[in-house]
Parts: sequence; structure tokens; C-alpha cells
Amino acid sequence: MTKMNRRQFVTNSALATAVAVQAGSFPQAALAAEKTDVIVIGAGFSGLNAAMVLKDAGYKVTVLEASNRIGGRAFTADDIEGRPEYGANQIGPQYARVRDMAQRLGVGLEKGANFNAPFSFSLDGKLISKEDWAKSGLNKTVGQERELLPTQLLGHYLIKHDPFTSNEQWLEAAAGNLDVSVGQWLQTLGASPAALRLIGQGLIAPDLWNASILDKLQGIPRSFMEETEGESVEGDSFEQSAPVSARVVGGTQRLPEAMAASLGDAVRRNQAVTRIDMEGTDAQITCLDGTRYSSKFVVSAVPLSVLRRISIYPHLVGDQREAVMLTPYANTTFVYMNVKQPYWEDDDMDASMWSDGPVNVIRQAYDYDGSRDRLVALSTGQKANRLDQLSPKDRSEFVLKQIEAMRPSTAGKLEVSGVHSWGSQPYQAGCSSALPAGHALRYANALVKPHGLLHFAGEHTKRLEVGMESAMESGERVAFEIFDRS
Ligand SMILES: Cc1cc2nc3c(=O)[nH]c(=O)nc-3n(C[C@H](O)[C@H](O)[C@H](O)COP(=O)(O)OP(=O)(O)OC[C@H]3O[C@@H](n4cnc5c(N)ncnc54)[C@H](O)[C@@H]3O)c2cc1C
Repeated sequence: MTKMNRRQFVTNSALATAVAVQAGSFPQAALAAEKTDVIVIGAGFSGLNAAMVLKDAGYKVTVLEASNRIGGRAFTADDIEGRPEYGANQIGPQYARVRDMAQRLGVGLEKGANFNAPFSFSLDGKLISKEDWAKSGLNKTVGQERELLPTQLLGHYLIKHDPFTSNEQWLEAAAGNLDVSVGQWLQTLGASPAALRLIGQGLIAPDLWNASILDKLQGIPRSFMEETEGESVEGDSFEQSAPVSARVVGGTQRLPEAMAASLGDAVRRNQAVTRIDMEGTDAQITCLDGTRYSSKFVVSAVPLSVLRRISIYPHLVGDQREAVMLTPYANTTFVYMNVKQPYWEDDDMDASMWSDGPVNVIRQAYDYDGSRDRLVALSTGQKANRLDQLSPKDRSEFVLKQIEAMRPSTAGKLEVSGVHSWGSQPYQAGCSSALPAGHALRYANALVKPHGLLHFAGEHTKRLEVGMESAMESGERVAFEIFDRS
């Protein structure tokens, strides 16, 4: 098959889309070849999208996936009742690539995420309703902050003081003066020490004083476009866009599985890449089991937390090496529970809870069929790392006891259905990257530069989008980079 360059690909994209739907229309012998045009490392959204775009343009592609499962951080808990998500759930209204992919592959989407319940608050071991928060003696914030719930504080500052009017401004040189820590930025805007403490409790980043605010501001112009009209929703950015977002029927993982199926046997499971050697126009890839592959180009579509364990020759250098080796990853750990009896009817408080204790959030799943019988407790950052020191059984018992201490009405009414830690996943080693303060702009630009025959995709190379859509965006970008070199 003749390969297309970038211009021909764009011109022929309608044809390419049609070809992609006809899975199996490429000769099996070509897909099975050990020597291939492009090796893609990682079968998450980014790697699979890169592989599909390249394949549609006539490239021979092999995707190497370390685990036995497709999807990476799209991970549906098929073994837990109610099939909760361990990872991605919400598909925002602006997720053009994700939505188009689902449509092309016949994967169903349905209304909204299933979590958007209001919270009650537990501070210093005392339970406070959202109605009582503003006047509570435990609310030590000042001025206008007092009226804001702990879950709304960061969003309030981000939205009120967002300097960007378009999605790309965060990558421009002028954004460099905003490359300070979340804590420092909030202090400059006059946030009170109490507000800083509350924001730090809920931040999915290793540290308020190390994570760059530039990284946080990146998604704000996009989330403005997703705002719900006339509806004020508390919580983080995913929670705020929940009422207008969609989810995949049967679980998020069904979409990357369908993407992998469309690539046929080009996707190899249980192939953990340990080494990439590049010389001239040839790349040699070695896996943990000794299997070797040879290709003209390589795409890394794995998180930085695992990319830094892969030996790369010649070595990465300069800003790129620093960014790959030093970008922190935050951990998130979950305990899933079934509700045996509606404890909230006993104390008349909102069922979901935000807390300053070892468990950050206890979130009730609100389903559209009216059921309210599932909860997930989640802890992030250092709190998650500490919980992960415990065995799954001890962690479950500890979390149940913590919840009972905060909320006596839960006693005997909850049962654990499963646990999941992103920090303990060998091929993720964390939940999400957090570009460090003072280096965010430099790292963000270094992380997308090709290194010899090696190109970089993945959520951590986001440009304009967020979450799954940014992973898809990055897969498309690397495919176009390779078109330009072919
Ligand atoms: C708890 C949680 C909630 C989230 N919620 C949302 C949400 O609601 N909406 C949203 O849009 N996004 C959400 N996200 C983000 C979203 O999941 C990610 O942006 C996206 O799935 C990342 O895709 P990726 O391809 O970049 O990486 P991954 O999905 O991490 O894929 C990387 C793949 O590489 C494989 N791999 C790793 N090492 C190797 C190796 N050495 N050799 C071969 N393969 C390897 C891994 O097994 C994995 O399959 C959430 C993420 C988490 C963790």
C-alpha cells in the first residue's frame, strides 16, 4: 500500500474514516510482520489513536501493550457489581475525537457521568452540612471565600482569575510569568491561609507548593465552553461538567477495546517494552520476555512515570531528559462500597462527603435509574501513598472506620466491594502528571519534541485538550509528525 503524506491524509480523511470502520480489510500478513513501519508503545487512547491514524494512511503499525488489558487509564471494574470506573468516566461535550471515534466504531454513549451528588463536609472530625458551612466556626476562610464550599474554592479562583482567552495561550512564552506554584499564585490573589489549606486537601497533585498553576489553567478556557447554563455545580472540573457530559455504555474501557479490535492482530498484549535502540533509520525495540521488533519510527504512548524506566539509546538529553525523569505523578487510591441502608436518611445530611482526614472524598454514585446504592472513597497524593502501605483488606477496614468516625450513621450500613490504587499499577505508577512550578512551560514544550526516530504521545503531552480528548489529540499529533518525515 502506498503511504500518504500529511496533505494527502487530510484530503483523504473521509476515505480513511470509511476504511477504519471496515476492520480486517488489511492483509493479515502485513499486520503480523515483526518488521514494521511504526511501533506504538501503549494501548491507551493515545497509542491506539496514533496507530489507527497511521494505519488508515497505509503504514504498517504494531502496538505493544505491557498488560493483558487494553485501555490504560480507561479501566472499567468489570469484576465489581455496578461496574464502576477505576479511571476515566466523563466525556465532555467538546470531546470531538472521542465522540467521533465512538460513532465510527458503533460504541454507544449515554447521558452524563453517574456522580454529581452534593457533599457534606467533615473538618477536624466534625460533620457540617453545606447549608451550615458559611457560618460554621470551623470555616476559617475570610471575606467572599466564606460563602464558598471547600470543593468550590480552587475553581472559584481559577475561573475568576484565568488570564487566557484561548486554549493555546498557556503554551506561549508570555505565559512564563504564570509558571508559579498553585499555592504562590493563590497567595498573590489574596487567598487566606485557611483557603490554601482546604484547597491543598483536595488537590490531585503531589503538592500545592510544587504543582504549576499553568498546568491547572490549561483546561480552563475549555471548561468555560462546557459550562452548564443556569446550573451551579460544586466540585472539581470533571464534576462541574458532569451534567453536560456523556459516558460509554457498558464502561469507558469498551471504547479503547473497540479501537484495538479495529487494528486486528497489530495489537500485541503482554509485551512490556524495556529498551529502545535507534541507529540511523532503524529502531530496535526489546520487550521484557526478550521479543524484539524493528521499525522505522517509534511512538511512546506510555505515562512518563513508566517511560523513565525504559532504556533509550541514544539517551534523552537536556530539557527533555529532565522533563521525562522529573515530572511528578500523583497517586489516587479508591475503596468501592455498596450501601446496604440509606444512612443519610438517619442524619439528614448529604450522602457524599469531603473531608480533611485520610480519605479526601466519599462520593455517592447518582444513577439515572434512581439508585443511590454505591459509594467510592478516594484519597490522593501523600494520603493515597500512606493508605497504599496497607493491604487491600486492612485499607478497606481502615477506610470504613474513618467513614464511621466522621459519620456515625454509616455504622454497619456499608460493605466494601473492591479497591484500586493507581500508584500500585506497574504500567501507570500514578494517576496523572503535574508539571512542576517554574518548569511547566519548558517541560510542556520539551515533551513533544521527537528524539531521533522516537515520537511522544500521551495525556502528559496535552496541548489544547484535557483528559481522554488530550490523549486522542496527542495520538493524532504524532501520526502527523511521522507523515511529515516520511
Ligand atoms: C482516576 C481517573 C479518573 C479520570 N477521569 C477522567 C474523566 O472523567 N474524563 C477524562 O476525559 N479523562 C479522565 N481521566 C484521564 C484519562 O484517563 C487519561 O487522560 C487517558 O486515559 C490517558 O490515556 P493515555 O493513552 O495517555 O495513557 P494510558 O491510558 O495510561 O495508556 C498507557 C498504556 O501504556 C501501557 N504501558 C505502560 N508501560 C508500558 C511498557 N513498558 N510497554 C508497553 N506498554 C506499556 C499501559 O499499560 C497503558 O495501557 C481520568 C484518569 C484517572 C486516573
